[in-house]
Amino acid sequence: MFKEFAKGLSITLKHLMPGNCTTIQYPKQKMQVSPRFRGLHRLIPAQDREKCVACYLCPTVCPAKCITVVAAENEAGEKYPEVFEIDLLRCIFCGYCVEACPKEAIEMTDAYELANFTREDFGFDKQRLLKS
Ligand code: SF4
Ligand code: SF4
Repeated sequence: MFKEFAKGLSITLKHLMPGNCTTIQYPKQKMQVSPRFRGLHRLIPAQDREKCVACYLCPTVCPAKCITVVAAENEAGEKYPEVFEIDLLRCIFCGYCVEACPKEAIEMTDAYELANFTREDFGFDKQRLLKS
């Protein structure tokens, strides 16, 4: 009995040692995420506009149907997304939108602190997605 108790205690003490701790002092300490982590989306800018050409592939492939794209044409006759919105409350962070994009115009960042106060705060429009 004492032997098992000592064994359990030694395991607990081992995890208290620096370097062996499995928890972090959040929010003072931030979690290190994997390079493959799928966090908040980002629309990638290219020179004077976004890389997105409003091809509708990402809203088509999105299983949660949370991407809204409205295409328009600029003076040069190039297609661009007049509206590009993601409803994060419905997004399941599957990354299909990133995989489907033929222009590599959308990526997922390591941002995971996405808590907010109102439903509207979870609607990410083009301007917010370009800045994220
Ligand atoms: S990560 Fe998945 S659910 Fe979220 S917007 Fe992209 S395709 Fe849709
Ligand atoms: S798949 Fe890429 S280019 Fe097409 S609408 Fe989505 S972000 Fe834009």
